[in-house]
Amino acid sequence: MNKGLLIVISGPAGSGKGTVNAHLLSTGDFVYSVSATTRDPRPGEVDGVNYHFITREEFLSRIESGAMLEYTEYCGNFYGTPLKEAEEVLASGKNLILEIEVEGAANVKRLYPEAVLILLLPPSFAVQEQRLRGRGTEAEEKIQKRLERTREEIAIADFYDYVVVNRDGLDRDAAEDIRAIVRAEIHAMRRDRSTVDHYFD
Ligand code: 5GP
Repeated sequence: MNKGLLIVISGPAGSGKGTVNAHLLSTGDFVYSVSATTRDPRPGEVDGVNYHFITREEFLSRIESGAMLEYTEYCGNFYGTPLKEAEEVLASGKNLILEIEVEGAANVKRLYPEAVLILLLPPSFAVQEQRLRGRGTEAEEKIQKRLERTREEIAIADFYDYVVVNRDGLDRDAAEDIRAIVRAEIHAMRRDRSTVDHYFD
């Protein structure tokens, strides 16, 4: 059986990655990797659906036991991808989406060079700032921290394979762009030579 595609989608706070991912997941072609985190749940977030919300102690013990495919510390909290779940999904032939930040994406690329890395961006930094303030879920200090982090992330983002812009109100188009990327990647010659190799069989 062909292994599923490992897809990394990174987007700074305010890129609308949650909405875009929801469109991608609505058709059942993709499975979303539920990360573990030590941050507190936001209103409406559900344990086991948005994240596995765990303590710092538990997180450190999972790192220790090799249970994380990758992990990072982001704005004072740990975030990580559970290894076992990811392996199971990929082995079953399904496409797995990791919604992770830039450092984690770089680690995934090192471990799995065949992964497809997509950077989702708001149309501009100014629009990102507006969106973050409009969301009203975070304190000013946290907003500043996330904006600062965006500058650092974009500065090192050259290793991504694709960049997709999520324009206001056009999140379905961004999801369609990502779908198109995935469809093309599935047909990449370097990824699957079997059709050509067995043509004369
Ligand atoms: P938030 O707190 O807004 O949900 O997430 C903060 C950042 O952590 C986002 O950029 C998100 O993509 C990233 N993130 C979420 N889960 C993981 C993970 O498992 N690993 C890494 N490296 N980053 C993650």
